[in-house]
Amino acid sequence: MSLAGSRPIVAIPGPSPVPDRVLRAMHRVSPDIYGEDLASANAALMDGLRWLAGTRGKVAAFIGNGHAAWEAASANLLSPGDAVLVLVSGRFGEGWAELLRAQGIAVEVMDCEADAPDPSRLAARLAEDRARAIRAVCVCQIDTASSVQADIAALRQAMGDHPALLMVDAIASLGCAPMRMDDWGVDVLLAASQKGLMCPPGCCFLWLSDRAAAMPATPLTSPWWDMRPRLRADQLWQFWGGTPPVQHIFGLTEALAIMREEGLEQVWARHRALADCVAAAFECWAAGGDIALSVVRPQARAASVTAVRLAGADALRGWLELRAGLTLGIGLGAADPANALRVAHMGDAGAVQVLGVLAAMQAGMAALGIAHGPGALDAAAAVVAVRA
Ligand SMILES: *Cc1c(COP(=O)(O)O)cnc(C)c1O
Repeated sequence: MSLAGSRPIVAIPGPSPVPDRVLRAMHRVSPDIYGEDLASANAALMDGLRWLAGTRGKVAAFIGNGHAAWEAASANLLSPGDAVLVLVSGRFGEGWAELLRAQGIAVEVMDCEADAPDPSRLAARLAEDRARAIRAVCVCQIDTASSVQADIAALRQAMGDHPALLMVDAIASLGCAPMRMDDWGVDVLLAASQKGLMCPPGCCFLWLSDRAAAMPATPLTSPWWDMRPRLRADQLWQFWGGTPPVQHIFGLTEALAIMREEGLEQVWARHRALADCVAAAFECWAAGGDIALSVVRPQARAASVTAVRLAGADALRGWLELRAGLTLGIGLGAADPANALRVAHMGDAGAVQVLGVLAAMQAGMAALGIAHGPGALDAAAAVVAVRA
């Protein structure tokens, strides 16, 4: 028998759940795209996105997903043959490096395994670069596959006076983990609409420091991807390189309103508490089964997603979908994907949802005979009790 209700829970790390308020805001016919109302809504949205990223810099908007954000960044700021250092902590870092390589960029990977990039290792590598040949350092703030979270402020500090651009993929972290782009000295920040921003996939953004925004086009800059006409646009169609994504403008505006009402610090603290809640449960389960958090050091664990090794993960995911109405993330990038999974706590997530996910998982493990240690739900509830 299935005990799934009518509203399934999808706890995959993107696209994340879209709040009802956002869905309702998007459920509108398109107004005149040449009218004043939409242009001013768009301008207000960009101000909101600056607030979210902690920057007074510029935003370039594109219709596209996270991969499009990657390509937008390099197509605007890098040239074939440029040396770029990519700090890789998981499959998404690898994917970014692959895209850069395909654009003819001379990629060097610093493999950080399933741990946060070590700032002193970055400092040492850049110190060797006496010719200052490295043009950019690229890093995912959260690698969604391994669930590693990098310390962006520490990495920037480690760069010292090296002139490389710091490019940060915040696709799975913006709106989930702290981001203070200007204070930290990030040059280029990338994000897309469908993760912490709680909207459907379809829009991506580059936030640019003054230095990055002033850089000239490169041989990789094609007319549509060029951010410069977008940055100096005085009409909405120029801003988006054509028809604006009208309903996304409404949806993103509502998502930002939700975050403003909660408070940004509170949004970040909620994600951290939920991540700790999930980790507490897994630590208990791990004590009595072939189960382990992918990220060993608590300081390197992501706020928005938790990746684990769990013997029987595929069977468990199947059981949960059918019997409990819960979908968990696949073991993307894991050494043994059939025995790995990811639990998302990204965007529109709360205590009831996460405690429900963990309780359903425990039910599934019991039903399937997957060995697991005791006390996980008590430990998860205790985190909520202390932090709520
Ligand atoms: C999801 C994700 C991407 C890719 O985004 P798509 O929308 O799937 O193209 C890139 N980087 C990170 C960190 C992500 O989480």
